[in-house]
Amino acid sequence: MGAVGGDDKLQVQYITEIPNEIMKKWIVSLFLVAVTASLLLVLLPGRQYVVLVSLDSFRWDYDSMYETPFLDSIAEEGVKAASLVSSYPTKTFPNHYSIATGLYPDHHGLINNTFYAPDLDMVYRMGDRDMVQNGDFYQGEPVWVTARKQGLVTASMFWVGSEAPAGGMHPDYWSVYDGTIPYGARIDSVINWLSMPVNKRPRFITLYFDEPDGTAHSYGPVSPETGSVAQSLDSLMGVLVKRLKETPVRRRVNLIVLSDHGMAEVDPDKSVNLWEVIPERYIEHCYGGNPVYQVKVAEGFADSVIAIVDRTAGIKGWLKDDVPSHYHWGTHPRIPEVLIEAEESWNVVWVPRTDYRRGSRGVHGYDPANRDMHGIFYATGPRFRVGVETPSFANVDVYNIICRILKIDPAPNDGDEEVPGMVLR
Ligand code: AMP
Ligand code: ZN
Ligand code: ZN
Repeated sequence: MGAVGGDDKLQVQYITEIPNEIMKKWIVSLFLVAVTASLLLVLLPGRQYVVLVSLDSFRWDYDSMYETPFLDSIAEEGVKAASLVSSYPTKTFPNHYSIATGLYPDHHGLINNTFYAPDLDMVYRMGDRDMVQNGDFYQGEPVWVTARKQGLVTASMFWVGSEAPAGGMHPDYWSVYDGTIPYGARIDSVINWLSMPVNKRPRFITLYFDEPDGTAHSYGPVSPETGSVAQSLDSLMGVLVKRLKETPVRRRVNLIVLSDHGMAEVDPDKSVNLWEVIPERYIEHCYGGNPVYQVKVAEGFADSVIAIVDRTAGIKGWLKDDVPSHYHWGTHPRIPEVLIEAEESWNVVWVPRTDYRRGSRGVHGYDPANRDMHGIFYATGPRFRVGVETPSFANVDVYNIICRILKIDPAPNDGDEEVPGMVLR
């Protein structure tokens, strides 16, 4: 009995000890496999993909004003910046092209949505197809050109500069801007590109949405209308993330969702018409748009124009050499002597009539240090850090981030070399 009892005990020990050993080995092996797999994912030069999305004028604090669960989950799984600091002037065209090139408008030449280029003797207007598609206006090297020159395929579902041979070439796949193309169809194009055979599949894609800009111009940034559009764009980002997960590149796609600038509440009754306050003979030409104008003054009248601006409530102005340094403004030959900008909550226009009244509730274009002008930066994917909120950084830094992910050599640019290290792993 005793012997049998002893055998039983031995058997019990045998049965419990061996599985423990196996378990330990399994756990160690599984752990090693997991570590190696993650290291391989991060370290091996696997083909990384970048999808760069712009939500025009999505202000940095809309996520605290409105419900944005999908952007919040991108932040949880990836990186969110406290804000993305726009370049000056805080308008759509200069900023999209700054994001694409890593250059301030003063260095890439798209100095406003509307401007006179003495080098071409032409006026650039964002609504003028011939100008928008004329490559001579666009200086510097957009990231799709940097990528193409280094053998990568690229695509654009709209982006400022993509419709012109900016920097020498278009992206491999691109379309003429058409604001009527439904947002869902824009996402379909991105998904179709990412599902193409590997040799045709773009490694870098831009995707542009013109809201919530339009709604916030009409109703102001703090309004139920803007809130509802911001929330539907957030849901759209949820759809995009879900659909990216269904593509063959789901484990190698890095998604950046940003905006070009913010939006400020303005008082439609606080408006200055430059045409009414500056005598016409003082000015050779004046281009721009509310709230910022570049003025070429008639010979000898620069100080007189500045004096008028100084004593007019609601506007400020500088000779180009006196513009505050954080504007990064004043060296490009397309920048004339005088810059005029509305004060916060004010409008400034140039309209050759006295009965002009401005109706919009939201305006952007002001000082990039004005927090209302800041945009968003959210990103997620294998190359981005996880659950990190970084301090604000400049939108000229985005170019270097994209180049680092794609492992391509950047062209000379204005970006801070430290920023990619802050957001990437
Ligand atoms: P803004 O608010 O004046 O700075 O400009 C915003 C507008 O720019 C949007 O409503 C779009 O319609 C327009 N836009 C954006 N990208 C393009 C483009 N690539 N070509 C033409 N218009 C564009
Ligand atoms: Zn914009
Ligand atoms: Zn706008």
